[in-house]
Amino acid sequence: MSTAADFATMKVESKLFQNRYLVDSGKPHIKVRAHTTPSKALLALTKVCPAGCYEENDRGQVEITTDGCLECGTCRVMCAGSDDIEWNYPRGGFGIQFKFG
Ligand code: SF4
Repeated sequence: MSTAADFATMKVESKLFQNRYLVDSGKPHIKVRAHTTPSKALLALTKVCPAGCYEENDRGQVEITTDGCLECGTCRVMCAGSDDIEWNYPRGGFGIQFKFG
């Protein structure tokens, strides 16, 4: 069992592993709109999404896998005013379940 002192010194990846995620199969709550060349914002998301949900594929397009999404809204803010992504919260009961609320 972890103590508060242990938690304070954990790496971010270890802290994220404390959470649970319920996948809504086939119904991702965030979608990347079809594109041939990604915008700068989409490319940046492959670096800044804290859950590593965005990846560049071998065709140079940006894809998302929402499993593990923290619902932090970073991608929503970065793509505000564009049609790069379609962002929604997961359906009730699905998505991230934070261990510490
Ligand atoms: S809401 Fe946050 S964690 Fe989820 S995909 Fe966007 S940037 Fe990543």
